[in-house]
Amino acid sequence: MNNIPDGKNRRVLIVDDNRSIHDDFRKILSPAGATLAALDATESAVFGDLADAVQQTHFELESAYQGQEGVLLVKKALEAGLPYAMAFVDVRMPPGLDGVETTRRIWEIDPNLQVVLCTAYSDYSWSEMFVKLGHRDGLLILKKPFDAVEALQLAFALTEKWWLHQQSLRKVEELESRVTERTRELLQSNQSLQREVAEHQRAEESLRLLSSAVEQSRESIVITDAQLDLPGPRIMFVNPGFTKMTGYTAEEAIGKTPRMLQGPRSDKTVLRRLRLNLQRGEAFEGETINYRKDGKEFNLEWQIAPIRNADGKITHFVAIQHDITGRKRLEAQLFQSQKMETVGKLAGGIAHEFNSILTAIIGQSELLGNDLPAGSPLARNATEINQAAGRAAMLTRQLLAYGRKQILQPEILDLNQVIASMEGTFHHLMGGDVNIQIVAAAGLHAVKADAGQIEQVIMNLAMNAADAMPNGGQLTLETANVSFDQDSVGRYPELKAGDYAMVAITDTGAGMSDEVKARLFEPFFSTKAVGQGTGLGLSTCYGIVKQSGGHISVYSEAGRGATFKIYLPQAQQQPEAPVKRLDSQELPRGTETILLVEDDPALREMAATLLRRLGYTIWAAANGIEALSLKQQRDVGHIDLLFTDVVMPHMSGKELADRVEALYPHTRVLFTSAYTENAIVHQGVLNKGVALLQKPFTPSALANKLREVLDQPSAPARETGQETFRFAK
Ligand code: ADP
Repeated sequence: MNNIPDGKNRRVLIVDDNRSIHDDFRKILSPAGATLAALDATESAVFGDLADAVQQTHFELESAYQGQEGVLLVKKALEAGLPYAMAFVDVRMPPGLDGVETTRRIWEIDPNLQVVLCTAYSDYSWSEMFVKLGHRDGLLILKKPFDAVEALQLAFALTEKWWLHQQSLRKVEELESRVTERTRELLQSNQSLQREVAEHQRAEESLRLLSSAVEQSRESIVITDAQLDLPGPRIMFVNPGFTKMTGYTAEEAIGKTPRMLQGPRSDKTVLRRLRLNLQRGEAFEGETINYRKDGKEFNLEWQIAPIRNADGKITHFVAIQHDITGRKRLEAQLFQSQKMETVGKLAGGIAHEFNSILTAIIGQSELLGNDLPAGSPLARNATEINQAAGRAAMLTRQLLAYGRKQILQPEILDLNQVIASMEGTFHHLMGGDVNIQIVAAAGLHAVKADAGQIEQVIMNLAMNAADAMPNGGQLTLETANVSFDQDSVGRYPELKAGDYAMVAITDTGAGMSDEVKARLFEPFFSTKAVGQGTGLGLSTCYGIVKQSGGHISVYSEAGRGATFKIYLPQAQQQPEAPVKRLDSQELPRGTETILLVEDDPALREMAATLLRRLGYTIWAAANGIEALSLKQQRDVGHIDLLFTDVVMPHMSGKELADRVEALYPHTRVLFTSAYTENAIVHQGVLNKGVALLQKPFTPSALANKLREVLDQPSAPARETGQETFRFAK
């Protein structure tokens, strides 16, 4: 529609094969002189006031003399943007297209063109025309011959109609474009509205999420104002995590300052640092002890950050507090157990060295005593030396126990039986003022442990209980089956999950302060008067229980008695009959040949002297190499037994034993050691078939053990597999 001129279009096409008709139309529609002389009174009568308008109308005429030509002109005019408003088309135009066909084709090109079919004959009936052209308001019939007025009127009316039609088209087009524009605007505002709604929903959802997170967080979240002058920022918001952690409700906390959580043991330097950081507008992280509403202490880790508004001004502070009491307790436990481990190593190492020395002193003093004539005043000195060394040996044994360096002889035990067998001793120990109660659980799990050592643990604990109740009280020994799941194991770093048999020893004595509790398993820690306590009782218990794969714990409050609990892992087997132990006063003698290898000269000397006295032939050497070279140097002959230390320089006792056995296949072997980390012992447990005499040993223990090994019907097969033997360098 762009190419339709703005002004009124009076362009008229005449399609007629008769040239004179063209002249007639020109005369009527476009007369020279612009007056309508031919149109006189009639016209005025018809047009009335319009007559002037019609007269002044200038029609622009173009002619076509054949239908096809007319169609072409219509096409060109339209393409040129100067369409015709109307056409007068003659119906008969031989030999070409007739007027009706011409009109049909014209409308195919320009359907708006108003057409007047001029006909002198009734070539077509109306109905035939409608069949060809359809019912159209743009078609009129002008019967020839026509009046000039008729033609003028038609031209005027139809061009006017064309123009009006164009106007309405233009309006519709304008309207359509406005509607399109408006629709587009509406669509745009709808889209932006939808975006806003979605953003709003997202913001609401984030807010909801944030608020649920804050509400449900296990951390305590506190928001304060930004008031930094004393007494400091005031709490404006706390989440339920805060209430759970501190015991204060939101109502109780709001309006107060976070100082409400501080107390005597809160770290002042941390709090000072916190204030400084906040004054500088910086975030802060730190730990300090805080206090719950009920006065209980708990460890808090703080993270405080300033909240700024759009202008960068600090309006609030947000603090996230994490309860680290559990972590602190674990750290302390870990630190404690590491400390115990280190001290244990040191104590074990020293005790090991002392052991050899003491064995020599005990042996030599015993020999000395035997050699002295009866009634000699020196005999008393020898006995004193022997007894003092015996006490020292006991002490080193305890240190070895604490250092978990004892050689255990584990067996399957029923702890109820162990306690029952000790009941008499308890009564003897406690005196009349202490009531003893034993509560034995039925179906108690069997445990695998060294019976003597466990007796020692229970005895130590009972003795401490007795010491704590000088004025009498109640001692309860109780057993139970206990299972530790992963959860409870998490609270005790050294505990393994599983089933345990537990012995609890409870007294109603003086109890302990936290300071004592923190140190009581340390060796030489004692609150008892000098001479009354060595401070080794509980450290020994600790070492033995740990070495047996168990756990020991204490529950006590000052003035409220104490409960010690020992947990030993459940054994897979059932208890066996108690192991019989050799115990003879008379020293057995022998005539066999013994190769004695010991790097400690005092101990070597003592053992050699003793054994020679008992009738044995002794070849003594300081180490494996020396022992092996003896064969080349001397006529050693047959060796019945090799008695060797396990840990020696140059060559281990095990290696030596293997070499000697290669040379003398029937030689029996007796090892001696004070230490567990050595060749014949695998993880602290004596391997089957290995004969071992533990240091420090008494002469009678050596004499008896020797005979025990020598008198066995045949040499027992020693386990030599790699899994069962691990040799220390
Ligand atoms: P000792 O008994 O030689 O002092 P322990 O290692 O057996 O050494 O004990 C260390 C300390 O633990 C004791 O001095 C005592 O303060 C405390 N203790 C041990 N058992 C108890 C108990 N049942 N009641 C109160 N305090 C105890």
